[in-house]
Amino acid sequence: SSSLKPSKADHVMNKQEMQRYDRRDFPWSEKVEQQLKDSFNLSKFRPLQLRAINLTLLGKDLFLVMPTGRGKSLCYQLPAVCSTGFTLVVTPLVSLMEDQIMYLKSIDVSAAMLNASINKESVKTVMAGMTDVKSPFKLLYVTPEKIAKSKLFMSRLEKAYNANLLSRIAVDEVHCCSQWGHDFRPDYKLLGILKRQFPKVPLLGITATATSSVLKDCEKILCVSQPITLTSSFNRTNLYYEVKNSDNEASISDIASLINSKYKDQSGIVYVFSQKDAESVSTELQKRDILAYPYHANMDPQDKSRVHHKWTSNKIRVVVATVAFGMGIDKPDVRFVIHHTISKSIENYYQESGRAGRDDHPADCIVYFGFSDIFRISTMVVMENTGQQKLLQMVDYCQNFDRCRRSLMAVHFDEMWNEEGCNQMCDTCRHAQDCITVDITQHARQVVQILELAASNNEKMTPLKLTDAWMGKGPAKHRKMIQTTTLSRLKAEAVIVQLLLRGYLREDFSFTPYTTYIYIKLGRKAPLLKSQAHSLTMKMRTTESEPAEVSKVHIDAPQESYSNPGKKHYNNGKLAGSFLPAHIL
Ligand code: ADP
Ligand code: MG
Ligand code: ZN
Repeated sequence: SSSLKPSKADHVMNKQEMQRYDRRDFPWSEKVEQQLKDSFNLSKFRPLQLRAINLTLLGKDLFLVMPTGRGKSLCYQLPAVCSTGFTLVVTPLVSLMEDQIMYLKSIDVSAAMLNASINKESVKTVMAGMTDVKSPFKLLYVTPEKIAKSKLFMSRLEKAYNANLLSRIAVDEVHCCSQWGHDFRPDYKLLGILKRQFPKVPLLGITATATSSVLKDCEKILCVSQPITLTSSFNRTNLYYEVKNSDNEASISDIASLINSKYKDQSGIVYVFSQKDAESVSTELQKRDILAYPYHANMDPQDKSRVHHKWTSNKIRVVVATVAFGMGIDKPDVRFVIHHTISKSIENYYQESGRAGRDDHPADCIVYFGFSDIFRISTMVVMENTGQQKLLQMVDYCQNFDRCRRSLMAVHFDEMWNEEGCNQMCDTCRHAQDCITVDITQHARQVVQILELAASNNEKMTPLKLTDAWMGKGPAKHRKMIQTTTLSRLKAEAVIVQLLLRGYLREDFSFTPYTTYIYIKLGRKAPLLKSQAHSLTMKMRTTESEPAEVSKVHIDAPQESYSNPGKKHYNNGKLAGSFLPAHIL
């Protein structure tokens, strides 16, 4: 399941040659194996861990790219306990540092840290320990500021180096070096001094950001020449991906009954859009006898850690959370991550859903896709540069019924995961036969007509108003003027979404000091529909609702109704509203 993506620097080594580093007959292999079991209580390596460990123990400079939660830390923690001296670990956040120290303490691996919150006495002890041949700690965690700004610390490090006690340097979240990355930290820019001062010490850069330009930049900044880059696949083979249609209350009942049946006694996360949703959804779940608690950014820190802790120790089963529930969550046996509302991007969805199944056992990632949620999120991301584009990619993920969910996700990690690699672990691959191609040309024209009519009346159409009008549920004055649809609401919405995704429609924002309003307008491709030759199809699922109705879609709205608006028009035998006045056409 893991693939190797050699960077330019290690083009000399092909896949076969790389496999040499998976061997278990290096001088340290026995010790590594024994420490894995005895100290870390793990039974076997995950893909690429052993290779990374062997390479760094061989003294090679290494960049390790692996998705979050896959076990990158082990790749320097285990070598640290198998080497003399200590490993210097640069970490961007004090909280991450504290988590690691706590974890290492719990497994009896000695570790120390230096950051701004450490008292003078402890600093002294740690500084002394750095040059102590008995190495009182195997790992020393520091913030990048220490290296960039503390001369005292650097001179101590120099002494340790000269005494051969600095065994290895690990730079965690190494993408922080690069301004092109998403978490640039100015102090990381100064870390090049490490390799310049301590050229003999192997450096291990670690990240979950795979972009090769970012890595190249980090290489330069850290002054490592031609590091070997190990990239593990981002494909999480044990996760089952599924998309369901959201229907407000119905989806909460659906979520509750899943939790009460399929996931009985198991723990999971339900991600919601807002703080308000976190509270209301968890209340609804509680009403249905589920031990669920909300979690969001506005809770005070004690409450947050209380919920987190109770969930980790299985005293509560479900956390109903906003995206604030993220960093530092490392519960191995999360069996489901359900998105009550779509994420704002595929990258976000991958991260959030990826909190499921870290123990490598099967787990489910379900997202509920709701039409109105698109626009709720849209207003939230409107100020972000590529926010809209990313959101639409997420929408496309949800509305794409003929491509493996995995392959849709893979694009965003510059990877190819072919559909065979899915093993029917997504709803598309499992139910491929339940999807048909539907001609939506006439539907598209109807929607365009409504928008043209609205525009001619200087009327702005919100997504809801547009759908209502099309379904004949709008104000009476609309109903007289337009051709309504016989599609179910779900399908009508799916068509509108499809038109948005393909540029026949677009969103238009209007700002007041208090809110952002969204309207639907004609997109750049709308004029194409004026041509009779232009046709448009989309894939629709047949499973979630009446397949009979979908098969009728082809005969709905015969072509002449467009070119001949005066003629009476029947839809499924019913009179389908009157037509647009000629001047609109
Ligand atoms: P990352 O830094 O890649 O996000 P971590 O190093 O924090 O991930 O590890 C995530 C989790 O995976 C930890 O709970 C760790 O104990 C676990 N883990 C690491 N390696 C293995 C392994 N070989 N087998 C099982 N669990 C592992
Ligand atoms: Mg990590
Ligand atoms: Zn699939």
